Amino acid sequence: MGEIDAEEGFPFDLNPMYEGERVRKGNMYAELGGHDKPGFELVLFEPDSEKVKDGEVTLIGPDIGEMEEGSNYAYAMIYTVCGEQIEKDLEAVIERRNHEYQSYIQGYMHLNQRSEIWVRISKDAVKKGLKSLKQIGQATIKLFKAELPFIEKMEATFITDEAEVEKRLEEANKIYETRDMRTRGLHDEDVDEFYQCTLCQSFAPTNVCVVAPDRIALCGAMSWFDSRAAARVDPEGPNAPIIKGVCIDSIGGEYSGVNEAAVRLSGGEYDSIKLHSFLEKPHTSCGCFEVAGFYIPELDGIGWVHRGSKVADTPIGLPFSTIAGSVGGGKQVKGFLGIGIQYFYSSKFIQADGGWRRVIWMASDLKERVADAIPAEMKDKIATEKDVKDIESLREFLMKVDHPVVNGVVREVDGVQVTEGLAVPAEAAAVPTVAETPAVPLEARVPAGVEVPVTSMLTAGGGSPLVITLKDADIRIGKIIVKRKEGK
Ligand code: SF4
Repeated sequence: MGEIDAEEGFPFDLNPMYEGERVRKGNMYAELGGHDKPGFELVLFEPDSEKVKDGEVTLIGPDIGEMEEGSNYAYAMIYTVCGEQIEKDLEAVIERRNHEYQSYIQGYMHLNQRSEIWVRISKDAVKKGLKSLKQIGQATIKLFKAELPFIEKMEATFITDEAEVEKRLEEANKIYETRDMRTRGLHDEDVDEFYQCTLCQSFAPTNVCVVAPDRIALCGAMSWFDSRAAARVDPEGPNAPIIKGVCIDSIGGEYSGVNEAAVRLSGGEYDSIKLHSFLEKPHTSCGCFEVAGFYIPELDGIGWVHRGSKVADTPIGLPFSTIAGSVGGGKQVKGFLGIGIQYFYSSKFIQADGGWRRVIWMASDLKERVADAIPAEMKDKIATEKDVKDIESLREFLMKVDHPVVNGVVREVDGVQVTEGLAVPAEAAAVPTVAETPAVPLEARVPAGVEVPVTSMLTAGGGSPLVITLKDADIRIGKIIVKRKEGK
């Protein structure tokens, strides 16, 4: 890779060591895509190799030199690829690598995927001579061709003209949707293999990413079909099959093969994962998830907010960014879960916890976006920030609409009641009788060890001192700051 930059005379280094490099606001020359401007990345397969101008990069819209320092711009990266071994299924696979390869570029931060991309160019990179997005495009094409030799020709069209990005984004969204629709008819029980993805282990080393027909990758960019295509064309790459093995829990989605993969991929940190469970042995979450879910212990229900949501705060008083900080890092965090948006359409969506019947709050823009995934009887029972502002108003809303959590959630798949209902005092709920819940372990109903978003409890009390008594608690502390008191 060092040879590539020297050869091409790029004014930046290309090296995997820059993966994870952050461009902070103070050192930001320009921001592309992200929260405030539209953006997307897309790879398209062109079967006629004559139509692909290898190595060519076209730019539509202002280039780096014409951008105002500190400003935001729209950004689209559209790549066209061809090659004997390439098939349409590989488009999404190649597209997902754009994040990895662009992260090798010094002074250029690339985050997220599809229409969520967020790029920053650093002032240092511009000072060193980065003048044009064409240089970025050329370097990216070089990396793609060096790392994925099955790509015979590749050209790129980068767009920073906002109207043009908006227009092409509509087409891109249709393509993403067509890809996503493919897996809807296929289920976990129809296949013998799932697929692992280790791409995010560079920054989340214990992340165990398992892609199954009923569970799209949490980044939303890899379906089971995409992963299978990737494993076939690049057997030494990040996507390898996981033989399902014995089904241990068909409702939670626990398989012996996945558990073995969990041990192997997490370096022994985790030994079991349930693909369709929120509270018990949940899937790990790296930093790329499209949506973050959070358990609301006071109401025994689950809320969801997505990356890019315009909603400032959830009812637990935290925005997406703070929740994401609790979810990410490749950890199995009970009480939080990162998912891909398409998982809302899965017939096994958090099946172990009661599925949609357990969902009590969603950001309104997310609820609108996945409206057709929500069962008709739940549509008016899930609150948004337009209905409620905090836990208490959410409780009132749930009572008013007679949400299933009020009297206890009964799982549709097997008729088992998985929550006690809000009318039951907390003390009573903590001591279930065998008759009450014959088939569900205590952990699934009153989740011992759930990582409760304490911040909301601390801020909700209006300044009264709060005493928290934890019994048999497993406490992990990320950081302790010790400060000397004034005058001591
Ligand atoms: S989130 Fe999972 S599937 Fe997506 S790139 Fe990361 S490891 Fe791969």
